[in-house]
Amino acid sequence: MNAQDDQGTLMSPRLYNTLTRRKEDFTPIDPENVRMYVCGPTVYDFAHIGNARPIIVFDVLFRLLRHVYGTDHVTYARNITDVDDKINARAAQDFPGLPLNDAIARVTEKTTEQFHKDISALGVLEPTVEPKATGHIAEMKALCEKLVANGHAYVADGHVLFDVASMPDYGKLANRSLEEMEAGARVEVAPYKRGPMDFVLWKPSRDGEPGWPSPCGIDGNGRPGWHLECSAMSGKHLGEVFDIHGGGIDLQFPHHENEIAQSRCAHGTPVMANYWLHNGFLQVEGEKMSKSLGNFITVHELLDTDNFGGAKWNGRVVRWAMLATQYRQPIDWTVDRLVQARDTLADIARLLHGVEAAGEPNAEVLAALSDDLNTPSVISILHGLLKSAKRNEGAGPALKATLNFLGLYGNETLEEIYPSRAPVSVDQGEINALIAARLKARKAKDWAESDRIRDDLAAKGIQLKDGKNPTTGEIETTWEVKR
Ligand code: AMP
Ligand code: ZN
Repeated sequence: MNAQDDQGTLMSPRLYNTLTRRKEDFTPIDPENVRMYVCGPTVYDFAHIGNARPIIVFDVLFRLLRHVYGTDHVTYARNITDVDDKINARAAQDFPGLPLNDAIARVTEKTTEQFHKDISALGVLEPTVEPKATGHIAEMKALCEKLVANGHAYVADGHVLFDVASMPDYGKLANRSLEEMEAGARVEVAPYKRGPMDFVLWKPSRDGEPGWPSPCGIDGNGRPGWHLECSAMSGKHLGEVFDIHGGGIDLQFPHHENEIAQSRCAHGTPVMANYWLHNGFLQVEGEKMSKSLGNFITVHELLDTDNFGGAKWNGRVVRWAMLATQYRQPIDWTVDRLVQARDTLADIARLLHGVEAAGEPNAEVLAALSDDLNTPSVISILHGLLKSAKRNEGAGPALKATLNFLGLYGNETLEEIYPSRAPVSVDQGEINALIAARLKARKAKDWAESDRIRDDLAAKGIQLKDGKNPTTGEIETTWEVKR
C-alpha cells in the first residue's frame, strides 16, 4: 500500500466512526477547510497521563490531515473548560481567603499554563483555536433560547433542561434506546425534570458562585452545563455541521450524546459531526489509575520528577510510549513501555542529533497512519528505517523528516532523551569502523581482538548484536544504546 495513488494525489485516511461502528473513508465536507473538534481539559488540576492520550492521539490526526489537505486547510478546535463545579470546589479549597471569582481565575490560569507546558513537551502542536467556555457565554445562552423556542428544551425551577423525549433518535451514538437508558439510570431524578434523562443546559448560581444573567426569562444569574459549552464552542468556530469530533471513550455517553442532541436540535441538522472518534482508556501497571491505589500519575510528574520508575522521562519518550498502542485499544502504562521507548529514542538521538531533515514523510508511514492511525505499525516501520539508517548515513535526513512530522523526535540530544546515561564519546562513523574491524578480526579467528572491541564499545554504552543477513547469509552486526 502506498500513501499516494497512481496520479500522485494523497489518499484519504480511513477512520473508525463510532456513529456507524465501522471504518470509513474520510471525506471532508470542504477539503479547503477540514474541521475537527476535540473536548479539552477541565482546568482545575494537573493533567494525568490518561488525559494526555486524546491530546497526543488527535495531534497525530491533526498532523496527518494537515499533510493530506494542506497546513492552511485544517481547522482544529480544542477547548478549555473553565466553567465547572469542580473548578469552583478547588478554588474555594486552595484560596479560602480570596473572593470566589478571583480564586477561580487563579486556579484556571495556573492550570491552563501548566497544561500548555506539559503538552508542548509531548510534541503536541497548538490547535488552530483554543476556545474557552467563559468566552462563549452569549453563544450558550443563544442555544438555550433557540432550544426552548423550538420545543426541545423547557424552563423549570430556574433551570433550562433539554427534553430528551423530543428527539426521536437520542441515543444513536451510544447505541442505546431511551427506554434502556432510563431503566439503567441510577441518578437521583430532580423533581422538576419531565423525564429522568433530561439534562441541564443552564442552572441557577447562588451568590458568590460564578454566574451570568440567565436566558429564557429566568431571574437572576446562572451558569451553563458542561455539555452546552462544547456545542456552543464547536458551533462558533467550526459551524453547525463539521467533520470530526473526538475525545476519550468515557465521553461517548452522556457528554457527546448530549452535545449531539443540543446542536442538532438547535440547528435542525441531521448530524453534528460526520465522524466521531474515541480513544480507549489508559490504565497503569494493570490497574485503573486512581488516587487511592497510589498509581495516579500526572504528566508533570513523569516529565519533571522521578515518581514513576525512578527516572525523569523526556516528553518525546512519553509520546513514543503512548503511540506504541493503537488509539482505540486500551493501553497499559508501564515503566517497561517507557524504557523501551527511551532506548529507541536514544539510538535515534545518537544517529540524528544535528542531522538536517530532508524530504517528505515516509510513504509507508503515511499509509499506516491513514489506516485508522495504526501507530504500532508506524513504529515497526520506524524500527526498520532506523536499522537501515545505522548502516547507511545517507538515510538519516529522510528518517529525521518522518520523525519530525510525527512529533516523535525534534532534535534532542542523547542526554535529553536519556538523562541518567553518561554521554557516550564515540560517533556513528567510529562505531561502524569498529564493527568492521571486529568482523575482520572474527574472520581471522582473532577472538581476543574481537572481544576487546565488543567490550570497549560496551563500556561506552554501545551494545553489539550479531545476526545473519537473510539474503547473503553473512554475519551482520547492529548496535544499540544499552539500558
Ligand atoms: P476530563 O478532564 O475528565 O474531562 O478528561 C479530559 C479528556 O481525557 C477526555 O477526552 C477523557 O476522555 C480523557 N481521559 C480521562 N481519563 C482517561 C484515561 N484514563 N484514559 C484515556 N483517556 C482519558
Ligand atoms: Zn465536549
